[in-house]
Amino acid sequence: MTMACKRATELMSLSLDRPLTLPEKGSLRMHLMMCRHCRRCNRQFEVMHRITSRRREDQEEVESKPPE
Ligand SMILES: [Zn+2]
Repeated sequence: MTMACKRATELMSLSLDRPLTLPEKGSLRMHLMMCRHCRRCNRQFEVMHRITSRRREDQEEVESKPPE
């Protein structure tokens, strides 16, 4: 794994915690365009992202319900 790959992976995992900034997104997308390894890795992060954001929505729904 090259330094660029390490950085790209960091950005992918960072995106699970917070939205990436524009320059971060740009450099990640650029790297994904030329690195097949990271593209595959990114797909797994996207799946994880969907799962975690769905879970977050569920929690919010529960919290916003008025007490019965
Ligand atoms: Zn890479």
